[in-house]
Amino acid sequence: MLERTLVLLKPSTVERALIGEIINRFEKKGLRIAGMKMLQLDDDILAEHYAHLKNKPFFGILKASMMKTPVVAMCLEGVDAIAVVRYITGYTNGRKADPGTIRGDYCMSNQQNIVHASDSPEAAEAELKRFFRPEEIFDLKDMNLSRLYAVDEI
Ligand code: UDP
Ligand code: MG
Repeated sequence: MLERTLVLLKPSTVERALIGEIINRFEKKGLRIAGMKMLQLDDDILAEHYAHLKNKPFFGILKASMMKTPVVAMCLEGVDAIAVVRYITGYTNGRKADPGTIRGDYCMSNQQNIVHASDSPEAAEAELKRFFRPEEIFDLKDMNLSRLYAVDEI
């Protein structure tokens, strides 16, 4: 099924000047960018975004690390995009992530791990609403999907 998912290029990407390189990985894979912007996160949006971690000892430093620089928010679109993006992102801890995954190739940290990616259809829906207004996500259906997929896949 054609899906949309949220990716954030974290301050670890912005500070290390890897924005273009990481976007390139997703584009080369065949995921389409349906929305993209740079924004500065604040405590409120991070408390919501990382609500599942609010009792963890690292919650404070996680939020601080996510506010260090602006981030780049992207809406990526593709068949099974939510699972595909998680798969190519790799395990949370960059030291354990497989080579070939983004985290495996670009970071050494469990926290400063280059990207955020939605982990389920429910999360993707909620997170896209959190970071994008409806008019900031563009309908790409006129673009030629036959270059990316077989006719029975779309
Ligand atoms: N995180 C951390 N320490 C941990 C686990 C997670 O600092 O032990 C940070 C890390 O930046 C991670 C984010 O919290 O990307 C969200 O955690 P989650 O378990 O949702 O991992 P993800 O979905 O990003 O792989
Ligand atoms: Mg997560």
